[in-house]
Amino acid sequence: MQGASLSSDQQALLEITRRFGNDVVAPVADELDRRTDPADCFSWDIVEQADAAGIRTATLAKEYGGAGIDSLTTAMIIEELGKFDLGVSVVFAQTLKIAQTLQAAATPDQQERFIPDYAADPRGLLAIGITEPDRSSDYIIPYAPGDFRTKAVRTEGGWIVNGQKHFISNGNRARLYLLFAQTEPGKGLVAGSTCFLVERSAPGFTIGRVHDKMGERLANNSELFFDDCFIPDENVLGEVGRGFDVLVQFFPASNAYAAASVLGVAQAAYSQALEWTRTRYQGGSYLLEKDSVALVLSRMRMNIDAAQAYIHRAVWMADNRQLGWDPKMGALPKVFASEVAWEVVTSALELHGGYGYMRDTGIEKLVRDAAAFLHSDGANNTLLLKAARFIRQDAPVPDRPGT
Ligand SMILES: Cc1cc2nc3c(=O)[nH]c(=O)nc-3n(C[C@H](O)[C@H](O)[C@H](O)COP(=O)(O)OP(=O)(O)OC[C@H]3O[C@@H](n4cnc5c(N)ncnc54)[C@H](O)[C@@H]3O)c2cc1C
Repeated sequence: MQGASLSSDQQALLEITRRFGNDVVAPVADELDRRTDPADCFSWDIVEQADAAGIRTATLAKEYGGAGIDSLTTAMIIEELGKFDLGVSVVFAQTLKIAQTLQAAATPDQQERFIPDYAADPRGLLAIGITEPDRSSDYIIPYAPGDFRTKAVRTEGGWIVNGQKHFISNGNRARLYLLFAQTEPGKGLVAGSTCFLVERSAPGFTIGRVHDKMGERLANNSELFFDDCFIPDENVLGEVGRGFDVLVQFFPASNAYAAASVLGVAQAAYSQALEWTRTRYQGGSYLLEKDSVALVLSRMRMNIDAAQAYIHRAVWMADNRQLGWDPKMGALPKVFASEVAWEVVTSALELHGGYGYMRDTGIEKLVRDAAAFLHSDGANNTLLLKAARFIRQDAPVPDRPGT
């Protein structure tokens, strides 16, 4: 796939990622996934080895020791990681995209204070905290006005934050967080939030429980608690009250990165299904020789390729917004890729028969993993409604008949 159109730098980076996946992730993924305590499923060794391979810092500019890769190359790396393990892909997708945002949205002073330390720490991971126990889809569908549980109130030299976030990827592992808190009472994320840079050591900031997830277990998700947590003015990212602009302006590729993670799972399921049907002999022929089976493989391939093309279009547009940006690209690629992945993993499960239900083939892990992205990075239905808002804006209905 991809092959012919890749630059030599992209090929080299993908090869490094593939080697990292084969040598570091593949040998331990299954065992880590099976651990009972969700915190134990995470591996610092994987993070350190990704750092040594240059993957952790790949989106940082070369002056910070990174590779300065664009969003297309980032999506390719994220997808490649997802072929080996979804959780590992998510750990780095979050970190790579937030590092991109920091470079684009932070002031020179903030960049100097935060980026070199993050770059130098082989365990440096990043996280973004938006979701709250009772406020989640409401921030994606802005027509549903929502209060925030996490509120920041002005004080001398900064802000006092109180509240809670949950489900946060890398929540218990990050060294730096982008936190969205309400700074205008009664207004939700879009109209009244501010984005803050929060260091792990901030007084009044504590990590809660690590969520026990069905899949994507090699990534940790956790609660974040803020109890009179002081955040200095210098740590406001973007403008006060305009936190949503940080998301809109500096996170355009975020949805496509999420799509790339789960597409990696679909690729893995396809490869396994192909190998299984090629070698499983039943009813007088190999499964792949039966047209009814080959049709399923063709459909998988077509949908995966279509999802990949959609993702690549979205990330290219994100990097070339001067040529035009379609805001639906900030919602739909993940919906499509996660639905494709769900169909592919469940088809792979079916093609494996009873073997797919047994843990040894690894298909059940792919099914559990793929399910994560039906909801992660926004529930699919709410993302469809978000896109529908843009469609309605572009195509307003006429006056009602008779008015
Ligand atoms: C693995 C994982 C990782 C995550 N990582 C992060 C992270 O790093 N940072 C972060 O901030 N968040 C994170 N999240 C949170 C994620 O973005 C939310 O789970 C998601 O937005 C859905 O919110 P919810 O789970 O509260 O569902 P709800 O909002 O309660 O929605 C439940 C169902 O109702 C539907 N629904 C909701 N509102 C409407 C409506 N108005 N109309 C029609 N249908 C509606 C939804 O589509 C969904 O099917 C993560 C979640 C998961 C599962």
